[in-house]
Amino acid sequence: MSINIAQLLLRAAHVHPQRPALAHGTRLLASYAELAARVGRLAAGLAARLKPGDRVALVMKNCPQYVELMFACWHAGLAVVPINAKLHPKELEFILADSGARLCFATADLYPALAPLAVAGVEEVIDVDGPQYARLFTAEPMPIAPRLADDAAWLFYTSGTTGRPKGVTLTHRNAMAAILNYLSDVDTIAPGDAIIHAAPMSHGSGFYMLPHVARAGVNVVPESGGFDPAEIYALLQAHHGVTMFAAPTMVKRLVDHPGAADTSGLKTIVYGGGPMYLADCKAALRRFGCKLVQIYGQGESPMTITCLDKALHADTAHPRYEQRLASVGHAFTGVEVRVADADDRPLPAGEIREILVRGDTVMAGYWNNPGASAETLRNGWLHTGDVGSMDEDGFLTLKDRSKDVIISGGSNIYPREVEEVLLRHPAVSEVSVVGQADAEWGEIVIAFIVARGQAPDSAELDALCLDNIARFKRPKRYVMIDSLPKNNTGKVLKTRLRELLAAPGDKRFTR
Ligand code: AMP
Repeated sequence: MSINIAQLLLRAAHVHPQRPALAHGTRLLASYAELAARVGRLAAGLAARLKPGDRVALVMKNCPQYVELMFACWHAGLAVVPINAKLHPKELEFILADSGARLCFATADLYPALAPLAVAGVEEVIDVDGPQYARLFTAEPMPIAPRLADDAAWLFYTSGTTGRPKGVTLTHRNAMAAILNYLSDVDTIAPGDAIIHAAPMSHGSGFYMLPHVARAGVNVVPESGGFDPAEIYALLQAHHGVTMFAAPTMVKRLVDHPGAADTSGLKTIVYGGGPMYLADCKAALRRFGCKLVQIYGQGESPMTITCLDKALHADTAHPRYEQRLASVGHAFTGVEVRVADADDRPLPAGEIREILVRGDTVMAGYWNNPGASAETLRNGWLHTGDVGSMDEDGFLTLKDRSKDVIISGGSNIYPREVEEVLLRHPAVSEVSVVGQADAEWGEIVIAFIVARGQAPDSAELDALCLDNIARFKRPKRYVMIDSLPKNNTGKVLKTRLRELLAAPGDKRFTR
């Protein structure tokens, strides 16, 4: 079977040539006809130097060039390797070498750090604001290179919180399936609707560019190249039918910001990538109305495992409304999801174990890593490494990454459950619960807390826990911290918190 997702742009340009395709803030840069023409030329410029199947790395903060470069690479039959722009040069070096990228594109802010890296195989680092980039547009446009459905389109490097990052190989089939699942379960997109790329385009927002191009929406890249709540509120006054992909921490920052009273330009916030706590979800519903959709996905099945749609967020009369809101919804139309035992057999409702997925969004494997691929893709199922339970109606509730589960005195404690309870205290703004090695208990529960104003009283926190969860789950210590360490997709780095605990002399936090 042959498909090339580059076709989506060409189709949008045929059907809606005059529709706006790309904007930088409020400034329109290109219509669909113009964008497709630029992409055809850029693809030809790339094809003059590279052969189909070659990898092209993108180390760029969010910028308009992201859209044209991704499509130009696919158009020329190349695979993109979008890399988290906040990584350390050593990590960048590793990914560039591992992916075997032949060209690397960088934004002007990152170019100086990248240009001196001597990575075997990378022929040139190109500044997307510089003259070499402009020279790539001088060739005549080329036709789309044919690709097989199983050819790599996107190498997605995992955040590598445990060990080295792995390159998830996503094919044209995977990308197409993710797009169709979005359109069937997350939201409809009308031509002229917009997506604001406030979250990293190397990750979730980049994936959501795809259904928006497929449906001739406007890709709006904020001028800051990142997430700034004031800028988002301003952009909501200028654009309409706006979707944003946001990590739960971004949603919280939007809610906490005084912002603008008028948010009618906003259509949908798709949140995911980390736990959304019930209190934060309700606050967001109060602020924005029923415009929230939750997705649960991972690089290995991008943006597509389960979905909690707008209607479910609005169904306040349902007897299990709160449980549903605290869940990640049910399986996307195009995938099968199960909670399974060690032999991959489905477990009855309510049992907590690893979550497995199969379907067309599931990666082809890890790039050049057959060992890790075989371990993760067994018996035709993707083993997500996430732990959860399914209820009678097929709603999945995530507990935690299996490695974050705390085992204290032989009992499993799911940090999320403890975090949900602590967040009910008015003086707790953010919380993250981790295990600390302990001679007596194996592990003990420690809660890192970011206070809202005055630090909360630990006796009150204890009382709150005792009122709501089993005694053995109550934290043994509360550690006040100014802010939680997070990666650039908003995930709390629990590994960093565990390291802080292992360094008792550390003065960065107080008890
Ligand atoms: P990544 O591959 O970087 O996108 O990270 C994927 C991981 O983020 C998943 O395996 C989950 O552990 C977590 N995650 C994704 N979506 C959600 C969600 N809606 N709620 C809680 N955790 C999530």
